[in-house]
Amino acid sequence: MAGTWIEVDLDAVVGNYQEIIKHLSPEAKCMAVVKADAYGLGAVEVARALARAGCEAFAVTRVEEGLILREHGIEGLILVLGPTTQEDWSAAIAARLQLTLSELSSIVELNKVCSALESENSPLVQVHLKVETGMGRTGFQFSELEALSYVLEKAPHLQVAGVYTHFARAARRDRVYTLRQYERFISFTTRLGELGIHPTWKHVCNSAAFLDYSEWHHDFVRIGTLLIGHYPGQGFKGKLKLSDPWVAKSRIVHLRKVPKGTYVGYQSIYRTKAETQLAVIPVGYADGFGLEPRFTPQGWIDFLKIVIKNLAALFGFFLGLERVELKGKTVRVAGKIGMQLTVIDVGMQDCALGDEVRIPLRRTVANPRIPRRYRQDGQMFSEWVIKEGVLPFSQNILYEINIRERNEGSG
Ligand SMILES: *Cc1c(COP(=O)(O)O)cnc(C)c1O
Repeated sequence: MAGTWIEVDLDAVVGNYQEIIKHLSPEAKCMAVVKADAYGLGAVEVARALARAGCEAFAVTRVEEGLILREHGIEGLILVLGPTTQEDWSAAIAARLQLTLSELSSIVELNKVCSALESENSPLVQVHLKVETGMGRTGFQFSELEALSYVLEKAPHLQVAGVYTHFARAARRDRVYTLRQYERFISFTTRLGELGIHPTWKHVCNSAAFLDYSEWHHDFVRIGTLLIGHYPGQGFKGKLKLSDPWVAKSRIVHLRKVPKGTYVGYQSIYRTKAETQLAVIPVGYADGFGLEPRFTPQGWIDFLKIVIKNLAALFGFFLGLERVELKGKTVRVAGKIGMQLTVIDVGMQDCALGDEVRIPLRRTVANPRIPRRYRQDGQMFSEWVIKEGVLPFSQNILYEINIRERNEGSG
């Protein structure tokens, strides 16, 4: 029996999907963004559950993520959002993945690959043009439009299925930047039309924009965050009825009564204040416990919070330390989180070896090797563990992972 595992309630994911489609404008559909292993929940099982619920479009960042979905029976549209490279193209075309184009030279090259694949009836690959409007990442700019139309005309194997852009600040209250991005997008698509290119679909909304700009739903909204039961920011709470499909659990594998004044863990940063029980749970930062992406402070309040946390730590108060939940009660992590083991201070409450502990494990950094147990129609139906040798996507995503100082050390 696993010492640490994650329970994913697919009924909750499907419920979130149904809540989302209730709020779609009539012409629009939901494209489920299941990148980074569906934000840690497991892309295959999440996509299967959504497909059963009627979802017909999915998005991932990388070709290999799309291939895995196809191999596991996901039909329907799969859009690769990220830039792709030549070595991925033939597999992507064979699997009918739709590709994002965001610069000119790859159009020429992709068309060449298509025409070489089959001499007579070479495949049409469906592509989406990504427009750079203010995210500063990938996409065509207005100034490239004439060249773009020229190059596309000479690329008969590509069919322009979509055109889209991505918002940088849709989750913020101030709308000016997002409005400007949208205006740039509309100028781009208008001029594209004048140049004779008429993509079948337009799509601009992520979770935040979906909630705040219902007039921009167009043909698809690309939703990840809301599907997994999160709101894209504080101000969005309550706009939809979402439920959280995710619970990470561990169990007590060692339990010991200790006297007041016992030091715990590396650098002995924790010392018990009274007689208590220390319990060990088999989870640590190698599993993603205590990890979070490095955020730079957004303004003075954020900055002050960081300063206060650090000052407090200097005097032995660990405001930032994780808390876990044992039998409905909150208990503190004692000392530094280890690589694969963590000590918790459970006080004198009644508990025993094997007792379950709920742990706050950030979805996107949860190690894919932690077994996921899925629940559907109220029943636990499968246990899924990533096999050795299969690349865990959520380990590769472009987060800069900040292993906080207190998490260093091993064991
Ligand atoms: C991740 C992503 C989304 C989904 O965003 P959420 O806010 O998680 O819904 C949509 N579009 C693109 C291009 C993305 O990379």
